[in-house]
Amino acid sequence: TIRWGLIGASNIAREYVIDAIRAEGGEIAAVMSSNPERGAAYARENGIPLAFANLDDLLSADIDAVYISTTNELHLEQALAAARAGKHILCEKPLALSSNDARKMVVAASIANVVLATNHHLRNAGAHRAMREAIRAGAIGKPVAARVFHSVYLPEHLQGWRLKDPAAGGGVVLDITVHDADTLRFVLGHDPIEISAFTQAAGMAASGLEDGAMCIWRFKSGLIAQSHEGFTTKFAETGFEVHGTEGSLIASDVMTQKPVGSVILRTAIGEEELPLERESLYGRALGAFHAAIRGEGQPAATGEDGVWSLACAEAALQSARTGRAVKIEPGV
Ligand code: NDP
Repeated sequence: TIRWGLIGASNIAREYVIDAIRAEGGEIAAVMSSNPERGAAYARENGIPLAFANLDDLLSADIDAVYISTTNELHLEQALAAARAGKHILCEKPLALSSNDARKMVVAASIANVVLATNHHLRNAGAHRAMREAIRAGAIGKPVAARVFHSVYLPEHLQGWRLKDPAAGGGVVLDITVHDADTLRFVLGHDPIEISAFTQAAGMAASGLEDGAMCIWRFKSGLIAQSHEGFTTKFAETGFEVHGTEGSLIASDVMTQKPVGSVILRTAIGEEELPLERESLYGRALGAFHAAIRGEGQPAATGEDGVWSLACAEAALQSARTGRAVKIEPGV
């Protein structure tokens, strides 16, 4: 059994990842919170035996792996400490506040010989896996354009640091554009080389942060893509389309945490709905992570994938600031 320590008494762990760890045969041994009362309450509510108020105590406990889901500015130091302690690391996105820092995490994990994964859940969705397979099999010919619709309404209980704390890595680009970067790379099987972005503050974000973004991406293959990320659109649906020379893939309601949505393949012959696996996205990620610890394969999204997605987000923010297209150079 793989024994886990949670770094961060977070919503995402409570809503998804604790269940996913347990469903995949892992055991949650301890949680660390900066606030002892909240940590104790969180441990009690989630059936976790131990609660710690500092990282060294957690890392000294009898655990094999850590799940880092604190606010974004804390991931770097926590991951470096976990690597030094020889613990495998599943880290939330964005891995850090800069791709430079994220690369340090990849290097540290490699030196310590521990698994480092980025929790890009969307790769694990049946919809995105089916799209990737269809493209690989040539179902749409040569892909020439993609569109990602990933603007949502940030639920009230999450309207905290994401909207008002630049130091914690708030803003929609670090929150959602990273996921779109990873999903585009995964589904297309190609890397982006350049991005141009407009961002906005449409009424929810404060302190100079953005709550909406539209990005234009150029991929190495020549494909161009557009993506829309937002926190403020109460009535928008999510979706993902890839258009090729011989057909289009049109997915609805797929930029989400749940195994829902549909994918239609449209070609000269007509339309067909692709059969999708409906496995939990987080469960599948945890299954792959446990296997990687046992030496069987790679995690669903690696540390390098996390460097890539953050380098894309960084370039998008730089483009929005400067009004120019920016090259994406992850250096991995
Ligand atoms: P939360 O705001 O729930 O948790 C972040 C930190 O805030 C916690 O570590 C905790 O600190 C503190 N905190 C939590 N609840 C409270 C509270 N009621 N009062 C005061 N402080 C509190 O963040 P999320 O779960 O939304 O996000 C955490 C990380 O996970 C981020 O990096 C985010 O980007 C990522 N994420 C990833 C998703 C994915 O699908 N891959 C989805 C959602 C988030 P302490 O630990 O010290 O108690």
